[in-house]
Amino acid sequence: MPEPLSVLPPGSTIGILGGGQLGRMLALAAAKLGLNVHIYTDQRDPPAAQVAVATTRGAYDDLVALERFAAEVDVITYEFENVPVAAARHLEQLKPVRPRPQALAVAQDRLAEKTFMRDNQIPITRFAAVDDQSTLEDATQETGLPAILKTRFLGYDGKGQVRLKNAADLTGATDQIGRQPAVLEAMVPFTREISIIAVRGRCATSGTVESKFYDCPENTHHDGILRRSVIPSAISAADVDQARAIAARILDRLDYIGVLAVEFFHIEPATPCSGPKSLPRLLVNEIAPRVHNSGHWTMDACTIDQFENHIRAVAGWPLGTTRRHSDVEMINLIGAEAEDWQRLVAADDTLSLHLYGKGEARPGRKMGHINALKPRMDDC
Ligand code: AMP
Repeated sequence: MPEPLSVLPPGSTIGILGGGQLGRMLALAAAKLGLNVHIYTDQRDPPAAQVAVATTRGAYDDLVALERFAAEVDVITYEFENVPVAAARHLEQLKPVRPRPQALAVAQDRLAEKTFMRDNQIPITRFAAVDDQSTLEDATQETGLPAILKTRFLGYDGKGQVRLKNAADLTGATDQIGRQPAVLEAMVPFTREISIIAVRGRCATSGTVESKFYDCPENTHHDGILRRSVIPSAISAADVDQARAIAARILDRLDYIGVLAVEFFHIEPATPCSGPKSLPRLLVNEIAPRVHNSGHWTMDACTIDQFENHIRAVAGWPLGTTRRHSDVEMINLIGAEAEDWQRLVAADDTLSLHLYGKGEARPGRKMGHINALKPRMDDC
């Protein structure tokens, strides 16, 4: 599909595959710029539909519904990485899809993702493919132990994973992940987890490609779910530069348009278990070809947040600044925590509360987040 020759003007419609909270926040950002959002989802009552101009409910293999949707939008993007690649490729014949479906193909298969990183000289932990219990032992020759066995597909928030500390743990390990195709990864002795939110755009009027990067938050997970992102993180300016360089390489190799999140393990050389000296300080854990939970702090600590920059990129607009004006802590409201909203806003009138309009506060469900801002302490 040829790229459109002009910037999508206000009044144009952006189609979004997926109707979760990320789609909702994208729709709000689009509305700010006078752009409309049309959601395509297979879910009932998706949070994004509450703020979108139109919603099509259909399966991702329903070609008729997909084609009807494509006819009503000017460009198509997505808000979750498990959009079936075949659906995105079909839509690409009809309207521009940004980022390109290749990004989905890489991100939704851990083996493809790690192979892509290795082929592009991006630092990652040692890994090997595991097809069944008999290949698991061979895989440990490559990774050593301890290691983590992860399903190749549909793993998220720590699901579909089993930790192998010693040889005894190998017994029955593939049963524990449902005998699915998997990847074994060497355990990384990381000090902290950080991420970077990057955005790449091609301005439709000038044709210029540009990439921009937000600051790196330090992220804390509980039970595999992101709880907290704190900015600034404790990593050095040199490590931030390294994270940017890695993200830039991924963006370029994927000829990417839109926001991409890269999650890293950061290894502090001073820690006793930091391993051999040659181990890089930053290893990529995974990428998400979309706006990301660890970038929600940008909504209040930056003039132009990740959602607006994604919309600008897919609409062919010049990117907005990624500069951060405040220090900030983002805390996710999970399950019943969101019921505390009244106390939170009463206790501190500077807290910025974001609720996603989801009905039932099931345990582990992301219901909203808060951003707590402080004046920026450095001056860079
Ligand atoms: P993932 O779903 O791959 O992001 O993994 C969920 C969490 O498990 C990560 O945020 C890390 O805390 C931990 N983890 C995953 N892979 C590794 C690894 N190779 N070494 C150490 N910890 C890991």
